[in-house]
Amino acid sequence: MIQTVLVPPTCGKTPIVFTWKIHGILCGLLLWAGSLGSQELPRVHLLGTGGTISGGSSGSLSASEISKLVPGLDGLADLSVEDFATIGSSRMTPDLQFRLARRVRALFRERPELSGIVITHGTDSLEETAFLLDLLGVAEKPVVFAAAQRPPRRSDTDGPRNLLNAIRIAAAEGMRGLGVLVTMNDEIHGARDVRKTHSIALNAFASPWVGPLGHVDGNRIYLFHRPARRLELEVDRIEPLVTLIRLFAGSDGSQVKAAVRSGQRGVVLEVFGRGNVPSKVLDAVREARKQEIVVVFTSRTGGGRVELGSETKRIGVLSGEDLDGLKARLVLVAAMGTTTDLDELASYYRQLSGELETAVGN
Ligand code: ASP
Repeated sequence: MIQTVLVPPTCGKTPIVFTWKIHGILCGLLLWAGSLGSQELPRVHLLGTGGTISGGSSGSLSASEISKLVPGLDGLADLSVEDFATIGSSRMTPDLQFRLARRVRALFRERPELSGIVITHGTDSLEETAFLLDLLGVAEKPVVFAAAQRPPRRSDTDGPRNLLNAIRIAAAEGMRGLGVLVTMNDEIHGARDVRKTHSIALNAFASPWVGPLGHVDGNRIYLFHRPARRLELEVDRIEPLVTLIRLFAGSDGSQVKAAVRSGQRGVVLEVFGRGNVPSKVLDAVREARKQEIVVVFTSRTGGGRVELGSETKRIGVLSGEDLDGLKARLVLVAAMGTTTDLDELASYYRQLSGELETAVGN
């Protein structure tokens, strides 16, 4: 016989007159449905590193605090948060970047249930951290950088929307296999090509010559193309002693000499046009090469490949192809902790250039 009892509020807040049996079944169903609902939400981990998105000079917010400013998070992802650092990104260092890469790797290893990882970062050096992490091969699932040009306390801040988009991208299974990504202003960029091109504009981030990989429109993600030019290196250490020098009319090689004196192991030069250097600079480069310093030429124009002349080839200068100086430098940072072999380093730049293995015709 079924007993009718006053059911205490064990699975709901309102006491209801019910039967133990029906109550038991309903409770079970509710708990199962509830757990099913939360299991279905993709798990995303947020690593905060600082920057304007978390307050900048007007006082830093923690990763947890900035996540609370994001509209519409409920029902999108089950978010966990962690403060990795709280710095303006002009204070980012290779050591910190490498530690961040290791943290991302460890998170994916320790928490296989994660769909993706979002990293908030200052805009100033974001393109560097994103590309180094991409080179270090951390993005077995989406790793998405988000930042802001305007701090969270401003009514027209862009941070919460950028962060919401980043969480959406990190949660999307279809965004796997694209490497490290950056989202700003509803656009999605690949780490290899993205650059900050303006100090204050909301659309400051662009991928010159190749365009964004995709776009976020409300709750839909549109993928335009997949990055064809990527390189992933498996390394245990990096080489932070790599510097970047930009040539100008009148460059006399003194910056190259200073770099050698200061103990740099690699020097990237943003040279003229397609690879032109004044003779005094070439003399300084020759001296640097005698001391086995790795020298890479890339174009200061911001686009297009460098083609090396016969003398620069003879002394062992490498072409950074069409990478800009910042990105060409990071290839050495990532690789030179493990190898200084020039052929190997040259092959990395070629892989990142998109060059097909065989030439076609003459
Ligand atoms: N100073 C800031 C930074 O950390 C600028 C920004 O985040 O937009 O890079």
